[in-house]
Amino acid sequence: MNFELNEEQQAFADSVRRFAEANLKDGALERAHDPHFPRGVAQMLGKQGLMGISFDPADGGQGGTLFDSVIAIEQIASVCPRSADVVQAGNFGPIRTFVEYATPEQKARWLPDLLAGNICISLGMSEPDAGSAVTELKTTATQDGDDFVINGSKVFGTHSPDAAIYLVYVRFGPGVNGIGSVIIERDTPGFTIGKPTPFMSGEQWSQLYFENCRIPARNVLLGVGGFKKQIAGFNVERLGNSSRSLALGRYAFNLAREHALIRKQFGRPLCEFQGLQWKFADMALKLESAQMLLYRAASVTEGLPSPYQTAIAKLACNQAGFEVANEAVQVMGGLGYSQESLAEYCMRRTRGWMIAGGSTEILKNRIAEDVFDRRFDQRGQAARAS
Ligand SMILES: Cc1cc2nc3c(=O)[nH]c(=O)nc-3n(C[C@H](O)[C@H](O)[C@H](O)COP(=O)(O)OP(=O)(O)OC[C@H]3O[C@@H](n4cnc5c(N)ncnc54)[C@H](O)[C@@H]3O)c2cc1C
Repeated sequence: MNFELNEEQQAFADSVRRFAEANLKDGALERAHDPHFPRGVAQMLGKQGLMGISFDPADGGQGGTLFDSVIAIEQIASVCPRSADVVQAGNFGPIRTFVEYATPEQKARWLPDLLAGNICISLGMSEPDAGSAVTELKTTATQDGDDFVINGSKVFGTHSPDAAIYLVYVRFGPGVNGIGSVIIERDTPGFTIGKPTPFMSGEQWSQLYFENCRIPARNVLLGVGGFKKQIAGFNVERLGNSSRSLALGRYAFNLAREHALIRKQFGRPLCEFQGLQWKFADMALKLESAQMLLYRAASVTEGLPSPYQTAIAKLACNQAGFEVANEAVQVMGGLGYSQESLAEYCMRRTRGWMIAGGSTEILKNRIAEDVFDRRFDQRGQAARAS
């Protein structure tokens, strides 16, 4: 067992860090307060080979590992927290499901622009009445000749106001088996993108409306029976979410650490007060332990990450990220609470990841299933009553 990065991984981490220091340090604060997808950063990361890090070179990827993508998030986030979202978009999010299951024709059509950072893709899974219970989604795809007609609505999609294409979960038929997915282009007739609404992080989302939106059958990504495949792939997305949570917690921790070394009150630097030293010890414990769980889950050399290891890593990283960023704000006092510092951004941003991509409660449900080695049907009582 080795708890350090190997030589190759360390060299990669150092090179990403140097790139970030040179290109992303300036403007980090402004980027955090810009509600739009940072397309300029995406194009820069595309040129640097930081999009599709673990994708097959035949697909335009870099042939690296999932672990390499985690390293990239950590290094980019340590310099510019907001730019870590671009690493997510180019490696872990719906792009990962897309590259896994798209046909050669679909890949040829959209992947080059996605990997170059020219366009971004948004995931349309959640609906007004289907959040944690995602399999209750109602958006339908009905075959009509060579086309499918889409009807329904999606909410909360990351980058939904700015995306060029949308990976939309749809129902081809009843039950879990009836769920699959389609790709919908932004300007398709019958598809409306609602007015953007800000999340607490400042990032915006738009409700998506599909009213007799007609798409060709070649835009189907996964047909009937596709849901299980998609959800297995979602563990990768969860690790991107975990990496960003932890990385932003660490960013805030480092800001607070610097502050505590320099800021003096009562004639002494803050770091000399034991009440604050213990806060830092608790923060370090949370970050270090979550880091181990993240690295374990991301260390897969073949196939997809384990659902259990992913769930426990995401839970630890989500909690550590938010709790540490929150404490960092406290340690930095008024400055921490001000938008002059990125500590408050890290706190707001990490809060959302306790809800997105499997809330902490849903993760605990998943972990408990492994603990008891049995499945707990969340619909138990409702199903019995009906
Ligand atoms: C920052 C952010 C980004 C997002 N990005 C996307 C995206 O790109 N695409 C997309 O489709 N969606 C996205 N979402 C939506 C996200 O997937 C949902 O918010 C999430 O699944 C929870 O659904 P909900 O908000 O409807 O809450 P609900 O499902 O209504 O849950 C409300 C509360 O009840 C708890 N709860 C629900 N069921 C149980 C249970 N069985 N046991 C214990 N507790 C339970 C939940 O944990 C939560 O705390 C995003 C959300 C956020 C905050």
